[in-house]
Amino acid sequence: MGVEVPVAPSLEDLFGQERPGEPDEAAGEQRRAMVFAAHPDDADFGAAGVAALLARAGWEVRYVVVTDGSKGSDDPTLTPERLVAIRQEEQRAAGALVGVEGVRFLGFTDGELVHSRALLGAIVREIREFQPYAVYTHDPEPVIIRNVFVNHSDHRVTGLATVDAVYPAARDRLNFPEHLEAGLSPHKVRELYLWGANEPNFDVDISDIVDLKIATLLAHPSQFPSDEAFIERVRAFWREPDGRYLERYRRVVLFT
Ligand SMILES: [Zn+2]
Repeated sequence: MGVEVPVAPSLEDLFGQERPGEPDEAAGEQRRAMVFAAHPDDADFGAAGVAALLARAGWEVRYVVVTDGSKGSDDPTLTPERLVAIRQEEQRAAGALVGVEGVRFLGFTDGELVHSRALLGAIVREIREFQPYAVYTHDPEPVIIRNVFVNHSDHRVTGLATVDAVYPAARDRLNFPEHLEAGLSPHKVRELYLWGANEPNFDVDISDIVDLKIATLLAHPSQFPSDEAFIERVRAFWREPDGRYLERYRRVVLFT
């Protein structure tokens, strides 16, 4: 009798017909996805559902949190240093719930993010190191999302710097040549997915895992209450009129 090796479900099993593209593993591409989020908890709002599904399919998913989250509290007894440490722990715990392989923190100051060479270089370095097939981040374009939310300036800056890093900065070897000296290769990301989009063109059905997604938010007790009113409010946020729960993205398959 042979040992039964568990087989990971396919993307078709998990996503159905409308599913993300897959890497050409014969050509050396890897089943890796990377999520760039402005603050601890944004990856969970934005992409915890798709991260959970990809992890179930055997993909490696890494979160990168761009700012330190040091402004996210009204508690006068909490120092920014203590808050940063608490929020890192919360983000690691939330990522572990959906099976991400790790969380990186770039440490830019919360609320003060500007598009800079330093920010772009830090994101390019992460992409070149991890070599993801797909990148998920904030849609940088909306200032107002669906006439309901103001899109936080840090979200827009993170999204824009990440888009710029994906194309062309990470791809072209003469950008940030110090990375070559550090042993990092240029990298072509194949697909980009943007959350918080006013014009989404790609839906991920998270109906089976919406409770898991909500659990990732509850893993941030410094940010959110865990009462029924909050849970119902966020549940309604992802519920469609037909009763399904969706994460909605703007998907760009990059021209190669
Ligand atoms: Zn945020």
